Amino acid sequence: MGEEKPSHGGLGSLVSGVREVFESGRTREMEWRKAQLRGLIRLLTEEEEEIFDVLREDLGKHRGESFRDEVGVLVKSVRNTLNNLEKWAAPEKADTPLVSFPATAMVVPEPLGVVLIFSCWNLPLGLALEPLSGALAAGNAVVVKPSELSPSTAAFLAANIPRYLDAKAVKVVQGGPEVGEELMEHRWDKVLFTGSARVGRIIMKKAAEHLTPVALELGGKCPCIVDWLDSKRDSQIAVNRITGAKWSTCAGQACIAIDYLLVQEQFAPILIELLKSTVQRFFTKPENMARILNEKRFHRLTSLLEDQRVASSIVHGGHGDPNTLSIEPTVLLNPPLDSDIMTDEIFGPLLPIITVKKTEDSIAFLKSKPKPLAIYAFTNDEKLKQRIIAETSSGSVTFNDAIVQYGLDSVPFGGVGQSGFGQYHGKYSFELFSNRKAVLKRSFLIEFMFRYPPWDEYKVGMIRHVFNFNYVSLVLALLGLRR
Ligand code: NAD
Repeated sequence: MGEEKPSHGGLGSLVSGVREVFESGRTREMEWRKAQLRGLIRLLTEEEEEIFDVLREDLGKHRGESFRDEVGVLVKSVRNTLNNLEKWAAPEKADTPLVSFPATAMVVPEPLGVVLIFSCWNLPLGLALEPLSGALAAGNAVVVKPSELSPSTAAFLAANIPRYLDAKAVKVVQGGPEVGEELMEHRWDKVLFTGSARVGRIIMKKAAEHLTPVALELGGKCPCIVDWLDSKRDSQIAVNRITGAKWSTCAGQACIAIDYLLVQEQFAPILIELLKSTVQRFFTKPENMARILNEKRFHRLTSLLEDQRVASSIVHGGHGDPNTLSIEPTVLLNPPLDSDIMTDEIFGPLLPIITVKKTEDSIAFLKSKPKPLAIYAFTNDEKLKQRIIAETSSGSVTFNDAIVQYGLDSVPFGGVGQSGFGQYHGKYSFELFSNRKAVLKRSFLIEFMFRYPPWDEYKVGMIRHVFNFNYVSLVLALLGLRR
């Protein structure tokens, strides 16, 4: 139901149909926007059980993980948008400088038009619906292209979005890269793409033909510094959070998963023991951890361990079962820095630990790498925290936890440099999908003739005073007492 079958030329009428709806003005109405957000909340709550089923089919996610990472966090986010929408959408009064006196100015957010959203398979519901909620809140018509690699969730979205949202203004198009390429032949007012840098480059090139603005939500290697933690309690809490972030969010297949740890040499043996015992406590049954997406991804991950130098650095786990597409939580100590596991994004349940002499040395290490989506650090040292904030660059920095920043509606989510650009979540989604239109209203009350030719030195002096914002000298100049 509601699914659009990709076919050559068929997408053209779909895209123009969505544009017609936008042109009709319907999506701009505040009531329409709120109805869509309420529809999203109903979709997420009424169809919760089916959502758990499709996420289990696609990725073997446990309903606990699915509720935490996809349904619960999303309902919270959409509610926040609904509660704040009128405030975000209201015109904002702006200062008017002397140069335009008398006047009033404001910033009026307006929808961009028709938005295309590409989502990724690892959080297949959230990465489609989180940006969708922002695009709808901003008053756009939207086409969503879910990843073909999570087909059950894609089919669920195609069947249910038309049931809960305005079926003419929001379309779901299923299919693989060829459908993505066909969609990119069309003109969009914004494209939000979540996925790999390789495809991100293709999207950006195609978007350039229509001068379409893009937001690229990419990945990379997110490092995590673990400082010496004096108290046993703090160390255990840190390891709970590292274990949860690395292995309980889609088995490490997350853009903001911890990719590797940077640990002070002396602390490494303690940390390894804590990681082993915590993994054993958290993953008592296989169903507590998601599986690897497919055979191709499974073999890519296991082949990272085939390098003899890497294999000999395994201190925990290392085994995978191709029949169930599961890989044990695996910890490695100092795999070579030039091995694939340390040069490529891991995107799976393998966790290298790289030791450093002093925790401060980690900062130089981070600065030598591309800017990641997230930097994590477990430390009680305030000076170290300040240095990380001041000296490194990343989409986000989180101290003493990991991944949870994704759930905050109050801070932007997005990358910088190689990890992408364009921030969303909460108000930042609304802004990403809006044009902040500058509106200036002048009056006919006063007319300053010095702004027009024929030029003379008096006029130039007057303009200088006006730009300098100095009322006293302006009055003196008007009275002819000062140039
Ligand atoms: P991908 O880049 O292969 O695919 C993403 C989307 O692009 C899919 O919908 C796919 O159908 C489409 N696509 C593929 N080829 C296309 C083409 N030629 N033209 C148009 N569309 C095309 O996805 P992947 O490599 O499996 O994704 C993993 C990457 O995504 C990782 O690097 C990860 O870090 C990143 N990621 C980032 C975020 C984030 O929010 N920043 C979230 C999840 C994943």
